Amino acid sequence: MRIRAIKFVDRDGEEYYRCPKCGRIFRKSRDYTRHVNRAHRGVKARKQGANKAALQ
Ligand SMILES: [Zn+2]
Repeated sequence: MRIRAIKFVDRDGEEYYRCPKCGRIFRKSRDYTRHVNRAHRGVKARKQGANKAALQ
């Protein structure tokens, strides 16, 4: 089952994705997907050594 992002647009017309689980906000759907995999589904993303990249 997939966790769906809450998508919204801010005053500047930028699209954002918000995690329904913890409320974090991401500009790119890719970042959101990575967050969900790491923070809420966890298992798959860990082996890819994405730790440094995920911390911005
Ligand atoms: Zn989250």
